[in-house]
Amino acid sequence: MKKRKLKIKNILILLLIVIIIIFTLLVLFNKNNNTLEKIGYNSLEIQELEKLSKEELNTIYKYDYNSNLIYIVSSENYNKDRLDLYMDYTLKNNDIDYLKIFNIINHENFKEENIDKYITHLKKFDNIDGIIKYVNEYENSNVKLNSTTLSLIKEKYFIIDFLDRYLNYYEKHKDLEYKEIITRVNSNLDYQFYTDSNKSDLTKEMYTLVNKYNYLNKDYVPDNLVNVTGMYARDKAELVNVAYDNFVKMADDARKSNLTIKITTGYRSYNFQSTLYNNYVKVDGVKNADTYSARPGYSEHQLGYSADLTNAKNVAFDDFENTDEYKWLKDNAHKYGFIMRYPKAKEYITGYMFESWHYRYVGIEIATYIYENNITYEEYYAYFLR
Ligand SMILES: [Zn+2]
Repeated sequence: MKKRKLKIKNILILLLIVIIIIFTLLVLFNKNNNTLEKIGYNSLEIQELEKLSKEELNTIYKYDYNSNLIYIVSSENYNKDRLDLYMDYTLKNNDIDYLKIFNIINHENFKEENIDKYITHLKKFDNIDGIIKYVNEYENSNVKLNSTTLSLIKEKYFIIDFLDRYLNYYEKHKDLEYKEIITRVNSNLDYQFYTDSNKSDLTKEMYTLVNKYNYLNKDYVPDNLVNVTGMYARDKAELVNVAYDNFVKMADDARKSNLTIKITTGYRSYNFQSTLYNNYVKVDGVKNADTYSARPGYSEHQLGYSADLTNAKNVAFDDFENTDEYKWLKDNAHKYGFIMRYPKAKEYITGYMFESWHYRYVGIEIATYIYENNITYEEYYAYFLR
């Protein structure tokens, strides 16, 4: 009898222990559930939120109910390290669409120290890229902020010093995209060819820009000219040594593919250009001659870094586009530091018709950038070298 009583007692104790364990586990499991529920999340939301890490949940517990939280944490752009910012700023600014705040915080150029300034502008504007760039870079300038200036600022090649020119150009060309306004003004198209021109900035050395807005003096002759002869030239030509060395490398590599690239003219003196241009004018008139020949002083050939090219058959310029040499150069010249200086579809920027034969040496780094970004030297120079 006594033995049996003891057995029942043991069973009861065991049962009690089991109940306590189950109860503790239930409490532990439901802890999140309870806290989230207390904050105001519904069971569906809780189900989603419970998939988050403990750390994330602890962050969420610090804040009031956030009706956008589920959208935020289930977005593919959600960054758990910024959860505090999402919570804080979407709750504080419920007059702003949470998505705008979310996107600002996720932006690649987002700087946490500027967040309050971004948010202030978000109340008035939608242009997130523009706001970020403005606050990060131009806040201390005198830019009058409106949707037009923000759209201009957002553009990759925006130059703050040109803002007034962009705005003027925009007033006259409202049909154009902002990107195109930037391209045109950076290339000086709001000015007149030859009329609004300046002396080329020779302090830029091998990067000097010569075009219809920038000219060389009559007596300018580059240093370090070398003769191009033999298999590298049709007759004879001259180039500045660094351009020559890289041209030789390029021609030698092309030869490995059975292609022959030769120079017809490299450096041209002011006087030579003068004779050339005047002869063209006699035949074609000024207007036509200007599309393919530079006025004296305005020819890049006078710099000594440009070369007109042909092949083994000495094809005429107009036919060079159809040669295998051209096809090779198009995708390889930049590897040797040369750019096609007057590309197709950029005639309105360069002021010259498409010249498949005219290459300019600018070094590998710049040539590669220009090739990969499909911009002209005018655009590159304005943004990176001016
Ligand atoms: Zn040329």
